[in-house]
Amino acid sequence: MTELTQDTIVPFLADIFARRGHEEYLGEEVTMSAHMLQAAHFAEAEGQRVEIIVAALLHDIGHFTSEFGSFTMNDTVDRLHEEAGATVLAEFFPSVVTDCVRDHVAAKRYLCAVDPTYFDDLSDASVQSLSLQGGPMNEAEVAEFEKLENTRDIVQVRLYDDRGKVHGMEVPGFDHYRSMVQGVVDSHLST
Ligand code: FE
Repeated sequence: MTELTQDTIVPFLADIFARRGHEEYLGEEVTMSAHMLQAAHFAEAEGQRVEIIVAALLHDIGHFTSEFGSFTMNDTVDRLHEEAGATVLAEFFPSVVTDCVRDHVAAKRYLCAVDPTYFDDLSDASVQSLSLQGGPMNEAEVAEFEKLENTRDIVQVRLYDDRGKVHGMEVPGFDHYRSMVQGVVDSHLST
């Protein structure tokens, strides 16, 4: 794979949505692209700032780590998809975006620990994967998580993630976000 640049990262991401987006989102009734596009749609509909919309849009991009030629970590290991996604995005996106991608699974474990109603609303597949991911956070982990720079945004993106599982819901496609994503990249790299 040729090295990604400021000019090729967004086409590269668009291409992943186009070619791989139809793939099943394990155990859910939506495809991978529908899931991420729905999450972005809910963020935009609530008037979130662009970094949050982009984070929601890209939060599961690590499921496609086989696309990232230089990345060698075994991408079949579910626990690592969030880390892989964040690693690839880190070169081009501000840390709030990469933090939301990296910690969207941690946010689920956090919310399960602090919000008794949260667990009840999780999808079956999400409950299933929770135990693989370490279960609800313990007290020390909760305290650590709350000390992160972007805790609130990470939790917010997680809530859009959880909502983006609506079977058959029509939402705008990747093109709708293309210039927004490029804008976030450009302003990050120019600072
Ligand atoms: Fe997700």
